[in-house]
Amino acid sequence: MSQATLLSGARELGQLIARSKALCLDCRRLVAQSRVLIGSSRRHLNPHWALAGASDDAVREAVRDGLESGELFPVDGNGFGARGTRRLCSVCDTLVLPTDMEIWITEPRPARAHAVCYAVWLDESKVWRESRTKLARSQKG
Ligand SMILES: [Zn+2]
Repeated sequence: MSQATLLSGARELGQLIARSKALCLDCRRLVAQSRVLIGSSRRHLNPHWALAGASDDAVREAVRDGLESGELFPVDGNGFGARGTRRLCSVCDTLVLPTDMEIWITEPRPARAHAVCYAVWLDESKVWRESRTKLARSQKG
């Protein structure tokens, strides 16, 4: 093997190594981008992963309507927390996925809710009970 062939081979090897390093960096950048896209896609598919804001208002309104119509009952905090079981949330009517925390209520009747929905349900139940108490007092006196 001549010295020219050896030099040419070494140069090709150096170029291959440099190209491999560049491709490896590109790959790492793409993996990082994919993670960001997967995260935002999950939040888009499941609004309960979104940051608090407008969706909380929609849940709050659904709870108020449910309490007024009797579709929902007032809760007092005695639910069990567990991983979601792919059953419908009593508040928002979407599935509670295994990636979500599910609150399971047995009394006065069985119900399930996303932890986020349950927090609003609990909050609105307190307001609902207080308004009933005030209404009862005003009717007496
Ligand atoms: Zn829900």
